[in-house]
Amino acid sequence: SIPTPINQQLYNYEVGSVQRKLLKEACEKLRNSTIDIPCIVGGKEIRTGDIQKQLICSDHNKVLATFHQANTQVLQEAIDNSLEAKLKWETLPFEARASVFLKTAELLNTKYRYEVMAATMLGQGKTVWQAEIDSTAESIDFLRFNPKYAEEIYSQQPPANSPGVWNRVEYRPLEGYVVAISPFNFTAIGANLPSSPALMGNVVLWKPASTAVLSNYIVFKAFREAGLPDGVIQFLPGSGRVIGDFLLDNKNFAGLHFTGSTGVFNGIYKRTADNLVKGLYRGYPRIVGETGGKDFHFLHNSGDVELFVNSTLRASFEYQGQKCSACSRAYVPQSLWPEIKEKLVSGVKQMKMGQSDDFSTFMSAVIDKNSFNNISSYIEHAKTSPDAEIIVGGKCDNSVGWFVEPTIIHCKDPHYKSMEEEIFGPVLSIYVYEDAKFEEALELCDTTSPYALTGSIFSTCKYAINTASHKLRNAAGNFYINDKCTGAVVGQQPFGGARASGTNDKAGSYLNLLRWVSARTIKENW
Ligand code: NAP
Repeated sequence: SIPTPINQQLYNYEVGSVQRKLLKEACEKLRNSTIDIPCIVGGKEIRTGDIQKQLICSDHNKVLATFHQANTQVLQEAIDNSLEAKLKWETLPFEARASVFLKTAELLNTKYRYEVMAATMLGQGKTVWQAEIDSTAESIDFLRFNPKYAEEIYSQQPPANSPGVWNRVEYRPLEGYVVAISPFNFTAIGANLPSSPALMGNVVLWKPASTAVLSNYIVFKAFREAGLPDGVIQFLPGSGRVIGDFLLDNKNFAGLHFTGSTGVFNGIYKRTADNLVKGLYRGYPRIVGETGGKDFHFLHNSGDVELFVNSTLRASFEYQGQKCSACSRAYVPQSLWPEIKEKLVSGVKQMKMGQSDDFSTFMSAVIDKNSFNNISSYIEHAKTSPDAEIIVGGKCDNSVGWFVEPTIIHCKDPHYKSMEEEIFGPVLSIYVYEDAKFEEALELCDTTSPYALTGSIFSTCKYAINTASHKLRNAAGNFYINDKCTGAVVGQQPFGGARASGTNDKAGSYLNLLRWVSARTIKENW
């Protein structure tokens, strides 16, 4: 039986510790080198010569890595090779497949720990703490918990047999290949998206985000070193559109494991639907997408002010607000607003911004130029809108890195654009409601944005908590009571949202793994 998983313990990298020294050395080494990353197909490194760069977000003159973009020839080779690899991989006993990913977890905890953390810090702009909970803890947790969930799935069998009959269910992998397309903001999602379908016996073509190629490449190296046979997961960096379109337009496409923005997912969904209607596919591809969010903190006037303020500051501004679960809108009762406002402003003023590999930094730069321009445009709009007032922050500076100050907008109109749209940066929008209109404000919270990923209610009143929990029952796939809306832990809070936030197939749970199998029922007569 699979070892009982426990959540990975976190290091704190305190001054004088060995871990701090090793991590600093790893960061320094990466800063002083430029890694060249190939496509990897069937275990073979392919350098196409069509090169893109990954930059350090907080120091964008420095090239961290160059990578060779997959072209259609490489993609076709990857498809052919993976279909060949599938024949053997799917016949391996589940334990043999699980062992590859359990060993990867160990490698990420030991040999690759500092390298992958440094790549996540410099490449994706994470501070030491954010990198520790992502590239180390969460990646390892996915790789340890998924085999346990898979084991439970395989053990589910029909409870009854008639005399002389044996009924059983086989959980077969999908017929064809699975495409995994991962986002920039979590190295752990990079580790999870290709490994979970592969664990269930599938072959996977993995396209990592262009702004997270280095950390994802290190994870891929760990898979291989852990014994992943060639061709089971292909590593295909490059253009999302080119790779996505090519891999979706093929009769062997059987499933998609995607995490990223709602817009990109909608385009993919449409393309697969069009292909399906044209009769291109053998069956209905499994489409799993975890997408955008406009996550909320809702304060009732019975709530604990300190808890609300601290939770909101962390949920909104850690990792520059670039977690899909980040709090980006808040609802505050009028009676508590003056106190809340003062505490939030004072909290923001104490936040230290800086280079991501400076261990005293609280917030670093946002991921890239596009993101910087997009976030700045919301801030500029708020500066002149009669419906908005910036109460703290508002400065953007891209001279060295893509730095955006933590910014709070007090919105006079509950439907002001920053209350509704995903900005994906360090911008918190707040609407102040009349205490007596608590239920109307809940209604607003439910209907203001199309997303439904995470949200929190802060209250000490059971009636208010119950009302919020009911009225917001479809507004958040992960709902928190008196806690921040970020920080879901694998094995504890399965993660995912509905509405425009995705198909809600709960990463880090048996629900997700079930999407990667196609069950065959066998009735045998004796
Ligand atoms: P993104 O721009 O949508 O990119 C996600 C992935 O899709 C990247 O690998 C990207 O490649 C690729 N891509 C882009 N265009 C494509 C196309 N036409 N066809 C196929 N693939 C394409 O998202 P992101 O900026 O990396 O991540 C931020 C978004 O992810 C936010 O909306 C956030 O809320 C969401 N997210 C959601 C969850 C969740 O669990 N719900 C978790 C994390 C993030 P390139 O990098 O090469 O463009």
